[in-house]
Amino acid sequence: MSSDGDIKTKPRGFQCVLCNVNLPNMPSVNQHVKGRKHQTLSSVRATRKSHEEHSVFVSGTTPDVSQSDLTEHFQQFGPIADVIMDKEKGIFAIVQFTETEGAHAALTCVEHLMKGLKLRVKPRERKEFKLIPKKKNDAQSLEQMFERLKPELCQLASVEAQMQYVVERLQLGEHEKKARELLVQLLQEVFVEFLPDSQILPFGSSVNTFGIHSCDLDLFLDLENTKMFQARAKTTTEQVGEGVSDDGRSEDSILSDIDLTTASPAEVLELVATILKRCVPNVHKVHVVGTARLPVVKFLHHKLNLQGDITINNRLGVRNTRFLQLCSGVEERLRPLVFTLRFWARQKKLAGNPSGAGPLLNNYALTLLVIFYLQNCDPPVLPTVEQLKHMACEEEECVIEGWNCTFPSQPIAVPPSKNTQDLPSLLAGFFSFYAKFDFAVSVVSLREGRPLPVVDFLGESKEEEENPSQSSRQHPKLGPMTLLDPFELSHNVAGNLNERSHLNFQRECQEAEKYCRSLQYQHKSAKGKPWGLVRLFTPHGEVSLSKAEQLSISIPFKSTALPEATRSELHTAGDDFRRLWFQKVLSAVEQVFKSVLQCHLTVSSGAALGEEPAEGPAASTDSSMNDSFDGGPPQDAVVVGAKRSLSPGGETSASPQGKKARLMKRGNAPPWVCTQEYAVWAGRRKVKRELLKGGDGDVGAEGSSAELESRVTAHIREKEAKLKEPLQFRVQPHMVGGTESTKAVLRLQPSSDKTGAFHDFFHFLEVFLPKMVDTLLEKDL
Ligand code: ATP
Ligand code: MG
Repeated sequence: MSSDGDIKTKPRGFQCVLCNVNLPNMPSVNQHVKGRKHQTLSSVRATRKSHEEHSVFVSGTTPDVSQSDLTEHFQQFGPIADVIMDKEKGIFAIVQFTETEGAHAALTCVEHLMKGLKLRVKPRERKEFKLIPKKKNDAQSLEQMFERLKPELCQLASVEAQMQYVVERLQLGEHEKKARELLVQLLQEVFVEFLPDSQILPFGSSVNTFGIHSCDLDLFLDLENTKMFQARAKTTTEQVGEGVSDDGRSEDSILSDIDLTTASPAEVLELVATILKRCVPNVHKVHVVGTARLPVVKFLHHKLNLQGDITINNRLGVRNTRFLQLCSGVEERLRPLVFTLRFWARQKKLAGNPSGAGPLLNNYALTLLVIFYLQNCDPPVLPTVEQLKHMACEEEECVIEGWNCTFPSQPIAVPPSKNTQDLPSLLAGFFSFYAKFDFAVSVVSLREGRPLPVVDFLGESKEEEENPSQSSRQHPKLGPMTLLDPFELSHNVAGNLNERSHLNFQRECQEAEKYCRSLQYQHKSAKGKPWGLVRLFTPHGEVSLSKAEQLSISIPFKSTALPEATRSELHTAGDDFRRLWFQKVLSAVEQVFKSVLQCHLTVSSGAALGEEPAEGPAASTDSSMNDSFDGGPPQDAVVVGAKRSLSPGGETSASPQGKKARLMKRGNAPPWVCTQEYAVWAGRRKVKRELLKGGDGDVGAEGSSAELESRVTAHIREKEAKLKEPLQFRVQPHMVGGTESTKAVLRLQPSSDKTGAFHDFFHFLEVFLPKMVDTLLEKDL
């Protein structure tokens, strides 16, 4: 179906009403409609529409009417594709034919008599297809919970009391824990019948002391001692009674005996799913998710309204749960901190991926961030994982899949912390710690209890080549946030985060840090106004950007996207790697402006925009700038101005140019001044298609190559008229890092923008420039 009707013009940009997203300009609209979300929703809508046209709505059924009764009756009108029944109440059904003719025939038949019942058949209601954002039950109940919590929290005397109260109100209650235990017992009884000597072990938030109402039930099915799947089990559906299985079958054996030693994990999970469906009462929506990092069988326990996940091969999950339990037992301030921060993160949409998968932090990752912060307090509140290893005795030694997972089993083995900070100051400390944390260049290691330089992870490919068996061990997937699992050291627990979610996390930490310095955080309001945690938890939507940020384009340091040679270079550069990377970025940006977008670019002498800029290269590298990079993280902000015009791969000259060099020492390097005479941002996609169709094979199939993009620009310049007024703008590049994530920031400032053309150009650049720079850096230009 065409997307035209889905895109509506808004005062500022566009909106896709199908996907409910705002888009700033036409390039992003074009990109969006080709994207996965839009394509999936369009196809779901088309399928939904076709189903509606093929089906009829049947009422007047009774609970004893089965799917096959209805199929038998309605197939006289045409072949049936599906019969969907309202199983709970047994009062209606939807009969779906394979063709529209069947539905028409059924609708034109005057009387439908079946098993003594008079059925009513109506056309299926046509509903407008709309994306209703899925809200998990727990998300809803969390919001409601906050509404209820607000007045109660406001009345408490201190932030400390508020944090303790959050734990009280959110934690799993005794009866909830009991219900979970009983379900685990039942599952154990059922599984052991089919899978002799198997063991089902709960892990995750149900048992790690951080569980809140309605958290899921994570289960590990240990099949280490199970050799066979025993199809003819003693447990039958008759024994387990009512509420059995989605399909209501009642055989007392399922499938056939299977040798588990040769079965694949996917086959085993299918068996687990079958057992759940057929033999466990009140279990619904059983399905295998094979695409997850750890494939899982998901189910819903209807009566307990509980989401369950069963994994096999997850001994590490059970062990890291024990680790969290230990930390909680060692340090009583951990639970209030984690509960408060989990709630804060949910309210700010930083954690809690709606469907399990997604780019947000999960609760495990967030808890590890809290522990890491506590390891870094002065004096530390919690020991490092390596220190814990040495506190364990011989019997507690534990190695899983080759990873050392040794730590004491009892909190008593860990000496108490000397840190006496109270909860509110630790909470504020968390925000300032991560507000300033340079995630782009530091790897969070709970094992070492300190940030590790990312460059240490960049130069190992040689070793990998020499010893391929080590490769998966040594290399975590580096990302905008790299948070190493405390045990499985090659696993980045925050590997699912994208740039945006990482940025939001850090921005929210910065906001919260500011708030924690205010009186509203520290003191109860005498007028009954929200204060303390209440204001901290209040969602405020997107964090508003400052004016400068609005016209800034960020190019984050992404170690993963760099080619092998650059990674090795940065690895060798050690502390100086940021400057080296920044030079490469500047060179790439310059190339994008000059060659790809064919702007006229000069380096400003520092004169006001509009005055004649100085031609040629500006100031040179000043080695004193290196000083800013010294010192371990977190460091002070590093601000380096644009250096001389950098030719691709070129070296910087060592000629200090008096005033300019001094300016650069202070981070105020002369900016570039750019002029653009054509609307090079408009209609690029179309031109690109034409160029590619025209048999210009040498530009390559991938649309984003610099060569192709340059030709697109040249084509626009050739075919389109000049802008009425050329765009003149200043670009001030600088680099930040150390006290926030390392990135190059380009601040753009137009001389004027009466026509709004600069606005369009800027929105285009916002997406185009970082992508092009990445492409060029990938080629190591
Ligand atoms: P909640 O279910 O309340 O969100 P949780 O701690 O149970 O919190 P889950 O996402 O359900 O979080 O994960 C269950 C357990 O699986 C975690 O406690 C942890 O032991 C393990 N786990 C989850 N995510 C990861 C991960 N990215 N890497 C390693 N282990 C993980
Ligand atoms: Mg869980």
